[in-house]
Amino acid sequence: MDFPFSAGFKEQVKEFSLKYKCTDCIHFNEPETKCSFEYPINSHHYFYIMDFGHQYEPRFSFCKYFELN
Ligand code: SF4
Repeated sequence: MDFPFSAGFKEQVKEFSLKYKCTDCIHFNEPETKCSFEYPINSHHYFYIMDFGHQYEPRFSFCKYFELN
């Protein structure tokens, strides 16, 4: 799921202590710093900038295989 990495989202993360990154996922292999399924993790760690041509928007990609650790 891909969504805007907005100020509102960041406030909700703080308010509800939301976990959403690979480092919070049970499938994250911490010693090797990678996903146990070998999925790329960069897109689930950091926001990225979507270029709409006339405007730029920070967005985040939430992994559908995320399971809270
Ligand atoms: S399953 Fe998804 S959220 Fe979990 S570690 Fe792998 S890429 Fe990250």
